[in-house]
Amino acid sequence: MHANEAARIYFDRAAAQLDLSESMRRLLLTAKREVRVQLPIERDSGEIATFIGYRVQHNDARGPFKGGLRYHPQVDLDDVRALAALMTWKTAVVDIPYGGAKGGVTIAPADCSLRELERVTRKFVDAIHDLFGPDVDIPAPDMGTTADMMAWIMNQYGKYHGFSPACVTGKPVEFHGLPGREEATGRGVGALTLKLLSRLGRKIPGTRIAIQGFGNVGTHAAKYLHDAECRIVAVGDATNSFHDQRGLDVLELLRHARSHAGRLVGFGGGEAITGSELLAADCDVLIPAALGGVITGTNAAAIRAPIVVEAANAPIEPAADDLLAARGVVVLPDILANAGGVTASWFEWVQNRQHYQWSLDRVRGELDRILGQAFEQVWQLSASRQVPLRTAAYMLGVGRVARATVLGGVT
Ligand code: GLU
Repeated sequence: MHANEAARIYFDRAAAQLDLSESMRRLLLTAKREVRVQLPIERDSGEIATFIGYRVQHNDARGPFKGGLRYHPQVDLDDVRALAALMTWKTAVVDIPYGGAKGGVTIAPADCSLRELERVTRKFVDAIHDLFGPDVDIPAPDMGTTADMMAWIMNQYGKYHGFSPACVTGKPVEFHGLPGREEATGRGVGALTLKLLSRLGRKIPGTRIAIQGFGNVGTHAAKYLHDAECRIVAVGDATNSFHDQRGLDVLELLRHARSHAGRLVGFGGGEAITGSELLAADCDVLIPAALGGVITGTNAAAIRAPIVVEAANAPIEPAADDLLAARGVVVLPDILANAGGVTASWFEWVQNRQHYQWSLDRVRGELDRILGQAFEQVWQLSASRQVPLRTAAYMLGVGRVARATVLGGVT
């Protein structure tokens, strides 16, 4: 199933609950602008390589477009379009003054040198610099992109428009970035997992967690949950997964990943398992924190966790979502679960605009407050309307965007 079809199914469920008219649904589902650009660069070898970049600006009814930039070999327009719409609902769920956008380049960062990635990134800015900016559209990191790349974006944008740190978020802390931005998505996933456990009346210490993906989000979520005395019983990345019912040594895992270019390969602290075994691990909470579309109609029956927290964007296909719901599995949806990243991006943007530096304590405090508030609203709506958390989150997000559209008008 195409990513966009999946996003549409979830949207339709909320739109039906909200009784949205056909014309409003059509307006909200249509992206405002879609851009596809050619990015030719000279490889270090002197050869020419041509990449394709996308930026989809989905909706700006509630504020400037906002969303990450993904560098991955599977990026295509359909994928970016779906992820852009997710950003619109996500910023609305946490009620921050943005719309939604997403960008991407079809590229395998691991096959490129740092200098080649810099050339591609700067070329991308050259191609779209008049389509984004602090009040228009603000990119940020996503899968395959880093704080360093955000610094190149700010620098390249500045060549056209002058000093504008608020044109991109997720920058290095020492280069107009925000302390706590990098950990924010994983921290949010951890904090919301604890809230959900409490709401479900479950004891937090000893909770068995399995995490698929050990990148920026997976590592920070693991650390946060480990600090809360949860047991991380399984983790995996694209090639290696490990399991230990007594709990893996999280600090050792983090150290290993740090010293092996972020990979788990060669980790000796647990039993090696396959990626499918990881998803089917005997645990209390499964956290997919890697690619989208990993839990499908085919493998959903194997999931043993009674709770799934979507740290990745769109990890569960609708067919799987239905199967899990029928079995009573509670799913905390992506547009709430991983909203910590974009929320901290908002703080960074505010800080940049005020030319002021926030402390880490302030960032964490505000982040926890905003995510906690959004969680309570989604939880209450889910209870009062007797709908799954995903539908409730979409109802909250889509409803807010529809309301802003009416308030602002379309004339
Ligand atoms: N890429 C992240 C997301 O999917 C963060 C986006 C942002 O900070 O703008 O939510």
